[in-house]
Amino acid sequence: MKPVNQQQIKDINMKRLYASIYSTPGISRAELAKRTKLSKTTVSTLVDELIERRFIQDSGIVESTALGRRPNSLHIRRNSHYIIVFNWYENQIYTHLVDIAGTSVFQDVRIIGKGGSYVSASQESFQEAVSAHCSPDEILGICIVISAMIDEKHKEIYSTTIHLPEMEGTQLFASLKDAFPGYPVDLLNDTACYSYAEKVYGGITEKNFAFINFGNRGIGASLFIDGSMLGKASGSFTQFGHYSVDPDGPLCVCGNHGCLEALFSEPRLKERISEFGEIPSLSSCSQVTFSDLGKAATFRDPVALSMVDEIARELSLALGNLICMVSPSLIILGGKIPDLGEYFLERVRENLKKTGFRRMVDSVQVRYSRLQSDSFLNGAMKYFFDIHYSFTDKNPSGFFIG
Ligand SMILES: [Zn+2]
Repeated sequence: MKPVNQQQIKDINMKRLYASIYSTPGISRAELAKRTKLSKTTVSTLVDELIERRFIQDSGIVESTALGRRPNSLHIRRNSHYIIVFNWYENQIYTHLVDIAGTSVFQDVRIIGKGGSYVSASQESFQEAVSAHCSPDEILGICIVISAMIDEKHKEIYSTTIHLPEMEGTQLFASLKDAFPGYPVDLLNDTACYSYAEKVYGGITEKNFAFINFGNRGIGASLFIDGSMLGKASGSFTQFGHYSVDPDGPLCVCGNHGCLEALFSEPRLKERISEFGEIPSLSSCSQVTFSDLGKAATFRDPVALSMVDEIARELSLALGNLICMVSPSLIILGGKIPDLGEYFLERVRENLKKTGFRRMVDSVQVRYSRLQSDSFLNGAMKYFFDIHYSFTDKNPSGFFIG
């Protein structure tokens, strides 16, 4: 989006300066001007404002015996601005106070009782727990992260892996808009937050990449084209988990057959084993995780190996088609699937050589995510800060979807 007024230009410049200081701690004003191609006067004025508003700090002149006085060094100020990230989970809410410099400094958990409301429990957590750990003006905004597809146009959540109480489903958007007066609120899809964390913190240099999230219950994806997330972070722009690789396969919750989610989302693993035989080490488990199956494959259980082979074949069919559509140069498999181990990843790579459009498939790197399982927290914080927060908005408010 092109900036249309002075306030937007100022906001963009402040974000560029903040990002440069974040990535190069100790940078000087002169170096900032060089790097951002802003004038020295602009840099000086905006840096002064960032210092006054406690986003950054000036560590003073550094004396150096060999080179004389070195210019002042600038650093990000930690623990002075936060974003609250609520993670709505099945019957639970995890509340995190995330410093915009990237640290989760406080966590609170609330259980949603029978007939309880996610919105009310989030408000209680904010008022009773979080507010004791920072002052109201240190909070820049509020993110709600949910494993769901969120439809901005029709103002509804049309598919989610958690059970929202009936009334909350239809009135959710209206009640969320008023739940936190004085703060902007952003409703976000979990896979999108994970993928944004990959882009920012995962050292990704590729402009076109796909992130596939294998969650507790579902499979989702987020695509980056030309360096930007396709669509918004609402989970409604791709339905990779419902990509069918077998029209005669098992019935999926969406009504179609043979979707990836119906074939090998984690809750489906246990009942799928019988297709291949029996895995003695897992026969007494009530649930089978990717980690369980990965371990059995590591110990060369022949049935586990056949099952992993088949899942790799099914996933690579879908990936081959995804590659033909958008030609990413990198595909990251994240969430719980890295627990399946290196054998699975190798099989996916091998299978890809036989599927998809050769020239494109050959130049795609497929790897596991290297970030922690709670990377979505920083992803949500950073997404909100980059996309919705404005340094120049004096009365921030609003309700964003994605
Ligand atoms: Zn489906």
